[in-house]
Amino acid sequence: MASSSAYSNSPCAACKFLRRKCMPDCIFAPYFPPEEPQKFANVHKIFGASNVSKLLNEVQPHQREDAVNSLAYEAEARIKDPVYGCVGAISVLQRQVIRLQKELDATNADLIRYTTCTEIPNHDIAATRIGGEDGGGSSLGQSPPPAFYYPSPWNNNDPLGDGFHTGGGDNI
Ligand SMILES: [Zn+2]
Repeated sequence: MASSSAYSNSPCAACKFLRRKCMPDCIFAPYFPPEEPQKFANVHKIFGASNVSKLLNEVQPHQREDAVNSLAYEAEARIKDPVYGCVGAISVLQRQVIRLQKELDATNADLIRYTTCTEIPNHDIAATRIGGEDGGGSSLGQSPPPAFYYPSPWNNNDPLGDGFHTGGGDNI
């Protein structure tokens, strides 16, 4: 948006597609560069050029790039999957999250079982407390704090957001 002369030499992807002259104040030019002709072709096929132009004029200039990226993403998904569009991708990922969450819960349950069964001397605080109360026979009711609990972004609020790195489950 700083200088309109940067893209005045060659028409933007939208104007080239629509076979019209790309004016210096072309609303499409900042978001549909000539190097990405497919981006406009997809958006035009799904939403129509006049609807995109109307939408860009309605939103604030600082929101236009996000709006175009969203339209381009949705148009590409709709071309790949005409029935479900990006909802198809979302439901596949949601099913994957549920499956991985179950896997993670099962692995955490295994870890808790192993740490309570083997009373490691290093963990003497938790181990002696359980051993002293009922002889270590049935300690499942009062399990110690899970020493190797793997955090997950879906079962706790990870403020750093780096819980994803431990979500794979293949490091066991
Ligand atoms: Zn243009």
